Amino acid sequence: MIYLDNNATTAVAPEVLEAMVPWLRDEYGNPSSVYESGRRANAAIESARASVAGLIGASPEEIIFTSCGTESINTAILSCASMDPDRRHVVTSAVEHSATIKLCEHLARRGYEITWLPVRADGTLDPDLVAESITDETAVVSLLLANNETGVLFPVEEIGRIATERKVPFHIDAVQAAGKVPVDVRACGAHFLSLSGHKLHCPKGVGALWVRNGLRYEPLLRGSQENGRRGGTQNVASIVAFGAAAALAAERLEECGARVRAMRDLFESRVLSEVPGTTLNGHSAQRLPNTSNLSFEGIRSEEALLLLGERGICVSAGSACSSGSVHPSHVLRAMGVPNELAGASLRFSFGRMNSDSEAVAAAEAVREVVGRLRERGPRTVR
Ligand code: PLP
Repeated sequence: MIYLDNNATTAVAPEVLEAMVPWLRDEYGNPSSVYESGRRANAAIESARASVAGLIGASPEEIIFTSCGTESINTAILSCASMDPDRRHVVTSAVEHSATIKLCEHLARRGYEITWLPVRADGTLDPDLVAESITDETAVVSLLLANNETGVLFPVEEIGRIATERKVPFHIDAVQAAGKVPVDVRACGAHFLSLSGHKLHCPKGVGALWVRNGLRYEPLLRGSQENGRRGGTQNVASIVAFGAAAALAAERLEECGARVRAMRDLFESRVLSEVPGTTLNGHSAQRLPNTSNLSFEGIRSEEALLLLGERGICVSAGSACSSGSVHPSHVLRAMGVPNELAGASLRFSFGRMNSDSEAVAAAEAVREVVGRLRERGPRTVR
């Protein structure tokens, strides 16, 4: 198998598994208990908190552990909404992850005005649009750092400056960015930042929310844990795993980033030069080093996914197919990619566990599969 879907999720790193196993097998104390095993669990959580904070240049007490990136995003946006109930306007973009989109749609049904900022054809965002859209009613600006489909990076430092100047809280969805590019919460000028463990070689089901020190904040889940900021007995093993994964990601950020970028570039340049009618979706430089989103004229992505899957190559499509109709990705649509090309797109996302030889083999398989599909000619999807 060649796994090129690291933006969907990642394999658990052996070091991470090793770090978490004792907390599943031997150590079952509740971190809120005062006796020895409880205190050990609490100390393990605090050490993980310090590592997660270290990955993003934060202080440990600013990190709240959650169950996933989606919970972190919901908590940040809803906290802003309830801290300032009279402000009923949210600024976000048309290319956010569904966690943000679905929540904003829910808020819209409750009378909020949502500004869905458009992106340029290369998926980048003009920060002036953020400045223009903020009003006295704005409760929060919530934007991605890196897009999960295209890898395109948003200029969060500039947006952070605008939000600070206008005194509006700024939440960053850094779920895809953390561990792939340097993230520094102080430089970003943000107030909230969301993270998820499973995008950086930790198991699924653990996330974190960074809340800037001193910020007014309202929890989503009420309870006494996490200093009253997120109720629910902590998932000690997963939090320990997240700490180990964050430490590894920080340690290897530069080395792995360069290696992964070289692999992705090797793959992408081969495909672009050997498969005519291929286009890159997204800015070629202003994007994550691991992501390549490509459209192949004359094919349908769901058919390519099947043929690549038969060859053991795991990638994902920028379009979802349900009940016989193809829905092109909202991200590609917002970039103005024509429907035929949006429905012919594939996302390849590399990780530090991939190799150059996999990149070459995948490029060869793509060439063969796209050629085969084009020979077959257009088909109707049932
Ligand atoms: N935000 C982005 C950009 C993502 O890519 C994802 C996951 O795909 C999420 C948020 C949600 O994270 P989780 O799966 O931990 O809920």
